[in-house]
Amino acid sequence: MKKNGLWRLAMAAVFVMSAVLGGCDQVQVDAGAAGPIGSPTVRPQGTISAAQMGARLGLGLQKSSAHSATLGNQVNTVMFFADPGGVAYVNGVKISPQGGIMRVGRVIYVPQSMEQQIRASLRAIPRPPVRGASPVRVVHATPTSSEPVLKYGPVIVDPGHGGKDPGAGHNGCTEKTIVLEVARMVTEMLRASGVDARMTRSDDTFVELNDRAAKARQVRAKLFISIHCDAAANRGARGFTIYTPETRRRQSSAFAAAIEKAMLGTNMSSRGVRGADFRVLMRTTCPAVLLELGYLTNRYDARRLASRSYQIASARAIANAVTAHLTK
Ligand SMILES: [Zn+2]
Repeated sequence: MKKNGLWRLAMAAVFVMSAVLGGCDQVQVDAGAAGPIGSPTVRPQGTISAAQMGARLGLGLQKSSAHSATLGNQVNTVMFFADPGGVAYVNGVKISPQGGIMRVGRVIYVPQSMEQQIRASLRAIPRPPVRGASPVRVVHATPTSSEPVLKYGPVIVDPGHGGKDPGAGHNGCTEKTIVLEVARMVTEMLRASGVDARMTRSDDTFVELNDRAAKARQVRAKLFISIHCDAAANRGARGFTIYTPETRRRQSSAFAAAIEKAMLGTNMSSRGVRGADFRVLMRTTCPAVLLELGYLTNRYDARRLASRSYQIASARAIANAVTAHLTK
């Protein structure tokens, strides 16, 4: 009986959710420059494309993908992630949750109302003192299409598995897909913070373990992080785990500690830092960690691993830890 009651409650919640989400589906023809020239796009009401928001703020669209858009100029980076609710970062700081960021086709749309909040958080571009000529002509910041300067690294971001090797698969989730999503976000966040982050795979392809480690050696990487999801026969097992190369634990311990500290901020529990002779770790020469984000075999963890909010939170934690470690 109790189960039945819960079920009804859940169905009611689903109904309410779809009603709310249905409300977001109102669309209007976008007369602006959101889509490719000549193709009128539809945009959710009250929103403008990330590129249009950038134009208003004097920021160029530096990168746009299926799940995120990055705006920037010489001194600012603004990132939008489309997911249920959406999330925005201005210079690495999350601006208060406002929802309404979404994707239509390949374009990220953001609420117009976010403009003021972002503008208030932007850093001013330092201007060289101008002698003589007065009054000074106000020059609007030129949108830049160039990549941010990559001062730190290189750092190798290694999404586990891929292609013919799906990794763990339980509760309707596949490891290779989740870790690729997280790794992509980590890489984008790092590059936005000036870290030369490189992926061992950026799509659903199979890469040999030796080749992953070899890539780190070839580019003389400063750090190596491999991202995975766990599985265990014991369905009760849950939490994230950090592994360092068994024979070089000391070399990686500070990096591992930084990752653990940042990951605790996601409210996932830690199973600690452990030594292991994973081949991908043993064949690297720089500080290296393998992070298991949580257990796909545990119902609670699996739900979080599949959620956009945990994927973004863990990506942010990893990126923060890497940046902190490189710049300390
Ligand atoms: Zn794995």
